Amino acid sequence: VEDQNQLRLAGEFTQKNGARLLRGGIFKMRTDPASFQGLGLQALEWISSLKKELSMPLVTEITDARHIEPLLPVVDMFQVGTRNMYNYALLKELGKTKTPVLLKRGFSALAEEWLLAAEYVLKEGNPNVVLCERGIRTFEKATRNTLDLGIVPWVKARSDLPVLVDPSHGTGVSALVPAMCWAAAAAGADGIMVEVHPDPAKAKSDGYQALSFEAFGQMMAQLRQVVKAMGRSLD
Ligand code: PEP
Ligand code: MN
Repeated sequence: VEDQNQLRLAGEFTQKNGARLLRGGIFKMRTDPASFQGLGLQALEWISSLKKELSMPLVTEITDARHIEPLLPVVDMFQVGTRNMYNYALLKELGKTKTPVLLKRGFSALAEEWLLAAEYVLKEGNPNVVLCERGIRTFEKATRNTLDLGIVPWVKARSDLPVLVDPSHGTGVSALVPAMCWAAAAAGADGIMVEVHPDPAKAKSDGYQALSFEAFGQMMAQLRQVVKAMGRSLD
């Protein structure tokens, strides 16, 4: 989330092309502390009214348990980022709410550890956990991470939790994102999370892996065909 215009444009366009959830970072977990850290709580009021105007549920990353209370009235799903998958104190606090939790896989986490991290939320009484494969760290440097699509059917065979795939962080290269969206659908994912920006070259975060509106529209058109070929539907 950068400003009202950017969020409105991205929300309107993606929804028109089949997106169901609006994922925007208010607190960003950045590797470099000098990078854009997000607008923080001061932006919450206008984000809340814009979300209602767009009538899209809002997903945002939670980086600190102290933000649960102020974010709770506005947020429809808390994203736990890759760096916080092992933050069991945070997971337990989220487990005390009923708000859905999108639990990203740690970039060095075994799938078994990822499922156990989900248990921390479930055990506290919140059954609404969605898993998200976002790429793992390997020896390969051509891509930002190595998207582990093989883990999708592995998890689906062992857990009833829905599984999303995030090809944006999974590849870190916008040109590679569409093919991995289609592959995620073919691998049995329940959904995808894709970074989209009205002007990727000017994005304050991760622009090199964000799809333009045109690329997102084309990706979604093809995704409908892939999903149909798998005997499923986006609707
Ligand atoms: C993100 O979704 O923007 C993000 C920072 O994800 P991850 O925690 O997977 O790096
Ligand atoms: Mn990002």
